[in-house]
Amino acid sequence: MRKNDLFIASALEELLPDAKCALDFSTPFQCLVAVSLSAQTTDVAVNRVTPALFSSFPDAFAMAEAPLEEVKNLIRSIGLYDHKAKNIIALSKKLVESFGGEVPQTREELTTLPGVGIKTANVVLAECFGVPAIAVDTHVSRVAFRLGYCKQGEDPIRIEQILEKRFPKETWIKLHHRIIWFGRLVCHAKKPECDKCPLQSVCAYFKKTSSKTGR
Ligand code: SF4
Repeated sequence: MRKNDLFIASALEELLPDAKCALDFSTPFQCLVAVSLSAQTTDVAVNRVTPALFSSFPDAFAMAEAPLEEVKNLIRSIGLYDHKAKNIIALSKKLVESFGGEVPQTREELTTLPGVGIKTANVVLAECFGVPAIAVDTHVSRVAFRLGYCKQGEDPIRIEQILEKRFPKETWIKLHHRIIWFGRLVCHAKKPECDKCPLQSVCAYFKKTSSKTGR
């Protein structure tokens, strides 16, 4: 590992030793649905709707038969609920038809499900089956850019490849959670808290902005 990468991994471990997924679920199916619902909304907002949703439709068989309007009503408080309701019913139907109602354990199979992209597949693989992966969401993209791993607006698949090359495979799952929480708590989108950031000394963004502002 390069010196800076080691420094970043160690500092994040010290700052966020117990970082984990913020979504609530108790089965791989519920994980898949919760992650699908989390696009362009917060995990907190998803956790508000999933208890009632999973109580009514706990597995792929029940969700595949769920009336669309009922699902929409249960998730109405989150962004894009109309589209997401259709997707979770469609992916449940596909799980029943093609996978015996079980969540498949490969990225190739997971991404055949409606609305399931690489990010969702990676989260499910890591959370439910312990498959090492770094799912790139908005926090991971932003932090990776600021730390100088990629250019701004880089393709998430490319960011995933870069990070997975730079950090040991056995650290990917924990590192992924730590970067997300670091993005939520310190390296905010609008106003990063650079003054209290342990990564300041290796941060490309800080170097650039502090030389402009004379910090
Ligand atoms: S120094 Fe600022 S921009 Fe850089 S990683 Fe820390 S909080 Fe983010």
